Amino acid sequence: MTVKTNLLDLDRFQLAEFLEGIGESSFRAQQVFKWIHQRGIVDFGAMTDLSRSLREKLCELAKINVPAFECESRSDDGTLKWLFPVDNANSVESVFIPEKGRGTLCVSSQAGCALECAFCATGREGFNRNLKVSEIIGQLWLAQNRFPETECRGARLDGSIPSRTVSNVVLMGMGEPLTNYDNVVHAVRIMLDDFAYGLSRRRVTVSTSGIVPNIDRLREDCPVSLAVSLHAPNDDLRSEIVPINKKYPIAELMEACKRYTDSSQGLVVSGVKWQRRGSPRDFVTFEYIMLAGVNDQLEHAQELISVTRGVPCKFNLIPFNPFFESGFNRSSEKTIRQFQKILMDAGLVATVRKTRGEDIAGACGQLAGQVKDRRTPRAKSAQVVSSSI
Ligand code: SAH
Ligand code: SF4
Repeated sequence: MTVKTNLLDLDRFQLAEFLEGIGESSFRAQQVFKWIHQRGIVDFGAMTDLSRSLREKLCELAKINVPAFECESRSDDGTLKWLFPVDNANSVESVFIPEKGRGTLCVSSQAGCALECAFCATGREGFNRNLKVSEIIGQLWLAQNRFPETECRGARLDGSIPSRTVSNVVLMGMGEPLTNYDNVVHAVRIMLDDFAYGLSRRRVTVSTSGIVPNIDRLREDCPVSLAVSLHAPNDDLRSEIVPINKKYPIAELMEACKRYTDSSQGLVVSGVKWQRRGSPRDFVTFEYIMLAGVNDQLEHAQELISVTRGVPCKFNLIPFNPFFESGFNRSSEKTIRQFQKILMDAGLVATVRKTRGEDIAGACGQLAGQVKDRRTPRAKSAQVVSSSI
């Protein structure tokens, strides 16, 4: 029996190769891609500008398996969270955040996460597996094609009708995107492709806890916006709460961030010239979670200023989002504002992230999905984590 290729796993260049491999013109890839990603059509028979023989061939050799969501939760603030099963054992979550003039989709890249950051619900779940390209891009496909557009339009405060429901994608859902590197890069290329979603590279953000070698690879392969989960200004503290720091300490991470934002050279990616030279918006966003009594003291802010010196960056302070038995508390509003002021007084751009979807456990770090058959032991109990800091 022929194993059918899921076309949702392929970027346009891979689809062209697939079509050539079955004796068709690679040029057809553009048409097929538009049908799938722009029109949301998954039935080859409905792809009316393809020849009948190609449609028949595709029915025989290919499939388009899109995810279906199991349940949808709706926050009072308009945020939507979808849980969708990726196989019999695991479900992952994506979150859609409507705001004035834009819609941001927060996408998962793994079922669980192996990195065990102390303050993260996903890390507590353990790791099961990497998501396939189809499971990553499927989250965007689903958001674009399957939820009632009217609701999204209603969420636009200025009443405008968006041409795209999703204008921004952040890989900040479950998992560490740079440890599922190849699949994430292929999925991101589909997001950027004009024959698919056509998002600009500035509107697609990869968030990483700091996998240094793959930050360098991303810069070469697909230089989109980069967010780095810094969370502590020195190695002792960071290694406690972000254990991957033991492997890639802060000094190495800062050097990688400098290389990432180095605009002295243009880059060629898949035949597309990326215009990086002289771009004023090339900066790294440092994410910094505000944990009461852990990393939120004023001297931490001062240390942060010196440790990030020389890196084109801005800061996004994230109020900690609590979850059951986390062992941490959110810093007070006053502390967060004081911390922000110290950074701003030093000439840095520092924003405070508005927490969205908290009532549906859809805020940063609250996504847990359902991860079964974990391959890493559960993280230490909340008690042990908090007492070791
Ligand atoms: N693994 C990647 C992306 C997913 S986590 C990373 O770590 O960057 C997305 C963001 O949510 C990260 O900045 C992460 O540190 C943050 N986060 C994790 N748990 C959180 C929590 N409980 N409250 C607030 N932010 C959290
Ligand atoms: Fe993984 Fe990111 Fe959570 Fe850390 S914060 S455990 S890297 S998902």
